[in-house]
Amino acid sequence: MILIHQYLYRNIRMKNQQTDIIILGGGLTGLTLSYLLKNRDVDHLIIEARNRLGGRILTDYKDNQAPIEKGATWLGKKHSSLMGLLKELNINTFEQELGNTAIYEPISTSPHQVVQLPPNNDPSFRIKGGTYSIIKVLSGHVEPHRIILNQVATKIEDHDDILTITTQDTILSAKMVISTLPPNLLLSSIEFYPSLPDSINTLTRNTHTWMGESIKVGLRFTEPFWRKKDLSGTIFSNVGPIPEMYDHSDSEDSSYALKGFLNGSYFSISREKRKSMVLDQLSKYFGEEVYQYNSYEEMVWRNERYTYSDYDAHILPHQNNGHPMFQEWFLNGKLIIGGSETASEYPGYMEGAVRSAISIYDRITNTSI
Ligand SMILES: Cc1cc2nc3c(=O)[nH]c(=O)nc-3n(C[C@H](O)[C@H](O)[C@H](O)COP(=O)(O)OP(=O)(O)OC[C@H]3O[C@@H](n4cnc5c(N)ncnc54)[C@H](O)[C@@H]3O)c2cc1C
Repeated sequence: MILIHQYLYRNIRMKNQQTDIIILGGGLTGLTLSYLLKNRDVDHLIIEARNRLGGRILTDYKDNQAPIEKGATWLGKKHSSLMGLLKELNINTFEQELGNTAIYEPISTSPHQVVQLPPNNDPSFRIKGGTYSIIKVLSGHVEPHRIILNQVATKIEDHDDILTITTQDTILSAKMVISTLPPNLLLSSIEFYPSLPDSINTLTRNTHTWMGESIKVGLRFTEPFWRKKDLSGTIFSNVGPIPEMYDHSDSEDSSYALKGFLNGSYFSISREKRKSMVLDQLSKYFGEEVYQYNSYEEMVWRNERYTYSDYDAHILPHQNNGHPMFQEWFLNGKLIIGGSETASEYPGYMEGAVRSAISIYDRITNTSI
């Protein structure tokens, strides 16, 4: 009964709702922007297509087991805006363990080898408690009524003084819309009336969505058995299907996992087939103990319709990421195309998402909305 009431309430509240700003997408960019806006007198809503926040940040949690990152995982010291935000939110990081050795498999005709790794002077870091911690803490700062899940924006119309956004349930209006969707997805999944200029249409349709084609795989274990064999868990293979993998145990080193990438071309085969390929490759290096995994996790991002969309032409990694045209305003100052891929520095990464949010915040707070 309470659920029905909440559903009706939400839908009545949403009908013809008008606000200053609509932020499309509740990933790191959208949530950081909303967090920054919280002390300003600017009414805003986040419209999110999925039934969850975080977008390309997604951590799989299981009780008393290592969190597995299905999306964004690593950051570096140079990621100063992200590091600054984590500090402000009291979220800690820990160093990614690479070990002194790695399994290296250069070609299929030769066996794999164990190679020494040089000292790592620029380590990568992970977020304690899982990358999703940042999404949890940020969303905790956003008033609940500002976040609307399960609403897929399909149309944006310019009515001179306002923009309207159509979703499957309602039409919302705002003085300004800020998209944080990957640019290619924005133009391939949302209709604009009138159309955006050809120049930005072409640019967005040819902007790579970072990691959009990737497949993440992770396995949890009761013991880090690889360490007993003097192996670090780090794997580099030109043979695959796993090209790289790392020890993914938790920050306290009390629950254990391995996690890496699977060659993205395996997106169309079954999960069972992918799992069997992963276990075959790992058992070649580590022996039968890999079959004693506690859980197998994977995420095929190419099959995620709120992240990936096919391109019109062949596209290179990071193509057009950070293009200067993304700093312009569209629809007479009522539309900003944001999101990690549009950031001037570190586009595609979490750092780019935070920088995009900060730069949009600076731009809109110098404007009368
Ligand atoms: C497998 C993988 C590994 C990665 N590894 C790293 C890493 O190690 N380090 C790093 O820095 N970065 C990494 N990244 C990149 C990082 O995840 C992104 O840069 C960052 O999360 C982007 O945030 P964003 O908010 O700009 O976009 P997104 O996270 O893509 O958010 C966009 C949001 O828009 C929503 N949406 C889509 N369509 C609609 C619609 N029509 N209506 C309403 N909402 C919609 C989506 O559901 C999503 O929540 C990785 C990404 C992936 C996928």
